[in-house]
Order: sequence, then C-alpha cells, then structure tokens
Amino acid sequence: MPGFELIGNEEKKAVEKVFNEGGVLFAHGFESIRKKFHVREFEKMCSKKFKCKHSLSVSSGTAAIKIALKALNVGPGDEVITQAFNFIATIEAILDVKAKPIIANVDDTLNMDVNEVHKLISNKTKVILPVHMLGVSADMNGINKIAKTYNLKVLEDNCESLGAKFGGKYLGNIGHVSALSFDFGKIITTGEGGMVLTNDIKIDKYAREYHDHGHENNKLFPRGEDTRTIYGFNYRMTELQAAIGKVQLRKLDSIILNNKKRYLALNKEIRKYYKIREIPIQCEPIYDSFIFFEEDKKIRDKIIDKLLKVGIGTKNLPDAIKWHCSNYWDHALPKKEVKKTKKTYDLLIKAISIPIWLKKPIEEYIELGRFIKSLK
Ligand SMILES: *Cc1c(COP(=O)(O)O)cnc(C)c1O
Repeated sequence: MPGFELIGNEEKKAVEKVFNEGGVLFAHGFESIRKKFHVREFEKMCSKKFKCKHSLSVSSGTAAIKIALKALNVGPGDEVITQAFNFIATIEAILDVKAKPIIANVDDTLNMDVNEVHKLISNKTKVILPVHMLGVSADMNGINKIAKTYNLKVLEDNCESLGAKFGGKYLGNIGHVSALSFDFGKIITTGEGGMVLTNDIKIDKYAREYHDHGHENNKLFPRGEDTRTIYGFNYRMTELQAAIGKVQLRKLDSIILNNKKRYLALNKEIRKYYKIREIPIQCEPIYDSFIFFEEDKKIRDKIIDKLLKVGIGTKNLPDAIKWHCSNYWDHALPKKEVKKTKKTYDLLIKAISIPIWLKKPIEEYIELGRFIKSLK
C-alpha cells in the first residue's frame, strides 16, 4: 500500500548524497556550494511521469489544495463544491481561503455523485473539487461536463489515488489543477509533502509565487532583490524531501502492480458473496484498498476482528471514519451541510476497507478472502 512500507536503503542513500554534494537543504540559491536542485528535479520527474506541463513541490497535500484554490482566485463569497466522503483537509483549505464548502454525497463508487453536483450549483459556485478516494477516480467526464456548462474550474484532490488513471489519462492531469500528497500514509511518501499539478501556465505562475512569499525568482536579480507583485506564504518543500520523493516515484509502478495482484486475489474469493465498491469502467485504480459492503453488523464485526487479528487492520473504514465522513464535521461545517450527508454516512457505515500491504504475501489475502466468504 503506502510508500512507507518500501522506504529503506535507497532513500537513505539519496539523503546521504544530498549531504555529500554540499548539504544544501534549501530549494533556492546557494549555487556555489551545491551540485543539485532536488526539488526542481522532483518536479520535472512528476511532470514527465504524469504527462502534465507544470509541477510545483510544496510542504503538504493540504497546502497544495489551498495554493490551488488561491491560484484559481477563490476567496470570500465563493462556493466550492466537494464531497461527503473526503478528508477534512479539503474543507480546511476551502475555509482557509474564506470560501464556503458545499457538500455533495457520494455514490456507490464512493466518489462524488455527479447528479447531486448539478443541484448544488449556484451563482456563487466557482470550483468543483472532486476527491479521488482510496485509489479510485471520480467520474471525470461527468464533472468536466458540468464544469464546462457552468464555466467552473475543476480542482482534483488526488492525494489518495496517485498513479490511477481515468480514460487512459493520469488523475491529477484531467481538471484545471490538482493536489498531490506525499504524507506518510500515501502511496509514495516524503514524510510530509505535496505537489500542485497543472497545464495552465498562469495557475503555475501564481502557485509558484504564492508558495514562496511572492518570490518571482527573477533571473535578473539575486534572491534578496527578487521582484514581486503578490504576497504569499511559505509552503516550500526541502531538498531532503525531494531527494526521497525522486526515489519513491520510481517505485510507484511496481507498487501498483503488486497491489493489483493482491486486490484481484481477494476480489476473486469474495465478489460473488458481497457487494464490492464500484469502479467506473474508464478507471484504472491503484488497488491500495479493497472496499466492500455488508449490511449485517455481526458479520462486519467478525470480519474486522479477523483483520485486526491477522495484522492487516482496516484503512479509514471504519477505523478513521470520523476523519473521512463529513457527517461528523459539525466542528467545521454549517449544520445544513452536515445534515445533507446522511446518505453518505449510511453507505460508509456498512463499508469495510481492507488495506493492501505489499509486505503481506498474496496467500494471506487469499486466506482472508476464504474466511470472509465462509461467513455467508
Ligand atoms: C492525505 C490527504 C490530504 C492532505 O494531505 P497532507 O499531505 O497530509 O496535508 C488531502 N486530501 C486527501 C483526500 C487526503 O487523503
């Protein structure tokens, strides 16, 4: 599942190399004592891998969402439509730019229900913010169509599905801009970290300046005399994170491949006996979580018990449902938004998400599948 399982010697060597080549940990300047610019290299690698024109490394996925919203000129009075199965970070970023989060329920794919989005659009709506949850893409055709009709921007939160595709294209490269996360629970990790991807040079320019106190990195001037037109904040990534990120990115394809083998083994055992999370036909997921539904709480509890006993556990559903279902977020959302999401709550409460661990052999997943099947 996540990159932390495979973090080790190669990443350690990459960090050592940073020290051996001058030890500069800052992404900018210090040319006379450094050999490399790892943050800039990591960005180039991401652009190449995900086939998108511009990649900007930042300090976290949450920062990436906020920076993207700023770059889309979202502010007070604007509404941003996002979804009820989510992570609190999107809401925090929307609130941080003083805009209003509007919540759509999810459908059986556990991603944004496009039919609901239609009904939520008002003259204040500026952005649709779909979140590709736990390895699977939202219906990007449906979302892009609505965005086009109403002249809205699409910001993809692709923190949880890096490497997944929709219609043959990498997620994060389908809307106007997207946010990636490399925190320690994600498919590849730099400890903390994130990325803003876009094909729009104007979005990239604003994001680049905003994440670095407004610095334009004007080549005609030393950094201390750099030019500026906006003020921003500090959401920069360090060289150490990027050095690790470069190594982790090279592992992404093999992580997905090995996830898939385990996922399919489990799927083969139980698909006839349980309702499995739907995957849109245009989507190639990253297979890092196997999600299914069971109405009977007694059976659910037995499965969860077993998952804990064999050391696999669950991923977010149900163990961290309170951080991922907006029905619990009355500390951040207006009551009206919280109430609307009962439908999503009713769906998620019956869901079990099995994490796919690469350190667990496929045989363990087959065995687990047989146990789950035996309960029916
Ligand atoms: C992890 C995550 C984030 C935030 O990323 P951080 O790097 O931890 O700030 C945002 N959205 C979703 C859906 C996530 O899973």
